[in-house]
Parts: sequence; structure tokens; C-alpha cells
Amino acid sequence: MTAPADVIQQHLIDPEICIRCNTCEATCPESAITHDSRNYVVDASICNLCMACVPPCPTGSIDNWRTVLRAKAYSVKEQLQWDELPVVLNEEGLTAPVEKHQAMIEPVGWGSIVPPASAEQAHVHLFKVQSPAVASVVGNFRVNDAGTDNETHHIVLDMGTTRFPVLEGQSIGVIAPGVDANAKVHYARQYSIASARDGERAGYNNLSLTVKRVKENHQGETFNGVCSNYLCDLKVGDQVQVTGPFGSSFLMPNHPHSHLVMICTGTGSAPMRAMTEWRRRLRVKGQFESGKLMLFFGARTQEELPYFGPLQKLSKDFIDINFAFSRTKGQEKKYVQDVMLVRSADLGVLLKDPLTHFYVCGLKSMEDGVMAALQTIAQQAGLDWPIIGKALQIEGRLHLETY
Ligand SMILES: Cc1cc2nc3c(=O)[nH]c(=O)nc-3n(C[C@H](O)[C@H](O)[C@H](O)COP(=O)(O)OP(=O)(O)OC[C@H]3O[C@@H](n4cnc5c(N)ncnc54)[C@H](O)[C@@H]3O)c2cc1C
Ligand code: SF4
Ligand code: SF4
Repeated sequence: MTAPADVIQQHLIDPEICIRCNTCEATCPESAITHDSRNYVVDASICNLCMACVPPCPTGSIDNWRTVLRAKAYSVKEQLQWDELPVVLNEEGLTAPVEKHQAMIEPVGWGSIVPPASAEQAHVHLFKVQSPAVASVVGNFRVNDAGTDNETHHIVLDMGTTRFPVLEGQSIGVIAPGVDANAKVHYARQYSIASARDGERAGYNNLSLTVKRVKENHQGETFNGVCSNYLCDLKVGDQVQVTGPFGSSFLMPNHPHSHLVMICTGTGSAPMRAMTEWRRRLRVKGQFESGKLMLFFGARTQEELPYFGPLQKLSKDFIDINFAFSRTKGQEKKYVQDVMLVRSADLGVLLKDPLTHFYVCGLKSMEDGVMAALQTIAQQAGLDWPIIGKALQIEGRLHLETY
């Protein structure tokens, strides 16, 4: 019989889903997380199960636990070699799964880790790296003006006869062909779904993505991103390996009177496009009763903004659109948070309504400014931000997804 002290719950990162964003390593107060050119891993000899790294992880890949003998805990060296989590064996001293660590997970920051109360139940992790779904490209075109930076494509993938149920706000993984510098298959990159749950074309088993071609790294040096360039170069008829779907909290409410406030930059518009289109289809069918849609959309210029043309065609009584351009010649720089403050009277009314849901998606750098604007707007509306902010968070009404 194994003594309980000899058994630990080992904290592991799923290499199939992890997007190598470094958030966990930057968060861990114990420096228990490390990485090489491929994998992020947790050192069991340092990790004290404090859970600080779990809520900020954008993919949930960090929320994996195994009951193992302390003496047989997976070493850092071993984990760095993994392409997937080890197969689960049985109880006695052998690897066994734990769905979630027993400790209470207190959300950190302001983002919700639960979906809106009325959201549809999402399907997740149906297709993994070892057994991906295969999609066919049925469309690939640019959705911002040629000749501008930030080339962005709208890509439509047909799932054929494969059942691949998705909801607005979820993402999929894409495995680019070929191998990385270590001769290993490329890890899957995540892309938000830009189409409604019933397909890019309603009733068809397809979905769309909004992909920016990465041509430089965050330091501004020339660097061709592996997966975004692969996706932007795809031709109609090409086949793509897809994993997922992922995400079970950044989901839209089904409540027929709910309001959506969508705040995005660049490709962060993908989930907002999906949610807007689903609402538009419900409205056309007479299945949507009321509820406001407000969009705050930022880009450097109008020409760089994805979907500028199609957005203009949506009627003003359906969606209230507010653009913010930061590099328009001869005009003052405007960011989404600036435009939110201009609309603070309307946002204040919405903040007071328990049916309002906020979604923020796009560049990591937008998060602080948007949260500061929301706090100012709450104060101007006579609301106590710590109370209203907490309510938004625990009721699944404030969702942040930045990358
Ligand atoms: C939940 C989630 C949803 C996402 N949705 C989308 C989406 O809808 N559309 C989309 O285009 N991308 C999206 N991304 C980002 C996407 O997963 C990839 O990270 C991005 O396409 C770069 O991958 P790559 O293989 O081309 O670059 P890699 O070969 O992985 O190189 C990445 C390097 O490129 C640099 N870089 C420059 N710009 C970016 C950028 N915008 N994102 C990431 N790295 C960048 C970084 O320095 C980084 O080191 C999402 C990410 C997450 C976590
Ligand atoms: S649980 Fe705590 S100690 Fe362990 S890796 Fe996460 S943040 Fe670090
Ligand atoms: S996806 Fe999660 S586990 Fe992977 S590096 Fe980012 S925070 Fe860490």
C-alpha cells in the first residue's frame, strides 16, 4: 500500500494545446515554470500548487494534473520531450488523471473564467494533435486594403462530413505542415472562429478564420510566422489539419434580451464578427427579441481594419459601431479606450444592466487601457467598480482574450 505522503498531484502542461505564450512563466511566483524552444513545463520539485498560473493561461493547457508517486514525478527533461501528455495508467503508484486540482481557483485580474449563465454548452478538445480533423479550404481572401501593413485574410474551411460543433468565441488549432528546428511537428497555433455556430454559410459544415500574416516579431525584426503565413498562402482545395475546438468561457449569452459590448483590435474582431452574425441571423428569423450590440473597433488606419466595408452595411438600429484609428494622417491618435470614454453615458447605462456582457479581444497591450476606461465609466455612472467589476467577473459577463 502506498503511503499518501509518497503520492503527489503533479501539475503538467498539455503540449498539444499550449500556445507557448509565456504567460504562465511570467506569472509563477516560484519560478517553477521553464521552457525550451518548444515546450513549457512545470518543475514538480518547485511547484507548490499555488494556482496563480491557472486562470491567466489563455488555453487551459496548464490545468492538467496527475496523481503520481513523488519518486516517479515526471522530470523537467522528460516533459521537454513530450508531444502530448502521458497515457493515463491506474491508481497504485502509477499515473492517474485528476480533472482539476482540488484547490479553489480564485480568478485573478478582471476576466471571467466562467461562461455567461445563458450560454450554450461548448464542445471542447474533440480533435487532438495525434488525430486532427482535416478541413478543405473553400475560400481565402484579403479583408483589408492591399498595400497596407497588417495583411489580414478571411479563410473559410469546410469540415466535410466531420462533426465539428463550434460556438462563437471558441477557437481552433491549426497544425502547419513540416517540422520545426528540432525536426518535430509544428505545435498547433490557435485562431478564433469568425463565423456563427451554424457555419460561415448557414447550414453548411464550414467555419471561417481571420488571420494576420506575421512578418515581424514583437521586437520589430523581420520574422515570418510559421502558421499565419501558411494559412494566408493557402489555395482553394488545400487540406488543413485542425484541432479543437477550444474555449468554454468566452461565449455569448443566449438570453433574448442580453446586450453585447464588443471591444477589439485587428484580428480580435474574429469572435465579434461571429457573435454579430449569429445575432443578425436570429434577428432575420424573428428569433431575437431585444438587446443592444455595441462595437468598439481599433486599428492604425481605416485601410488596415479588417471587414471595414461589410461593417458599413450593417444597419444602425442593429449595431452601434465606433471606430478608433491611431495613425490617420492629420488626425489625433485614437484608441478604443478613448472612444469608449466618449460613449461613457451609454456604456454607464449598460454597466448598470445585469444583462450586459463585455468582450475584449486583440492585442495584449489594449487590456490595461480598456479596463481603466471601464473603471472610469463605472465611477462616472455612480457605480462602485470593485463591486460591479466582481459581479461582471463571477457572472461570466466580462471576457478578455488578448494575444
Ligand atoms: C486564443 C487565441 C486566439 C487567437 N486568434 C487569432 C486570430 O483570430 N487571428 C490571428 O491572426 N491570430 C490569432 N492568434 C494568434 C495565433 O495563434 C498565432 O500566435 C499567430 O498567428 C502567430 O503564429 P505564427 O505561427 O505565424 O508565428 P510563430 O512562428 O509562432 O511566431 C510567433 C512570433 O511572431 C511574433 N508575432 C508578431 N505578431 C504576432 C501576433 N499577432 N500573434 C502572435 N505572435 C506574433 C511574436 O514575436 C512571436 O514570437 C490567437 C491566439 C490565441 C492565444
Ligand atoms: S501552481 Fe503556482 S507554483 Fe505551481 S507552476 Fe503554477 S504558479 Fe507556479
Ligand atoms: S498557453 Fe498556457 S501553459 Fe502554454 S505558455 Fe501560455 S500560459 Fe503557459
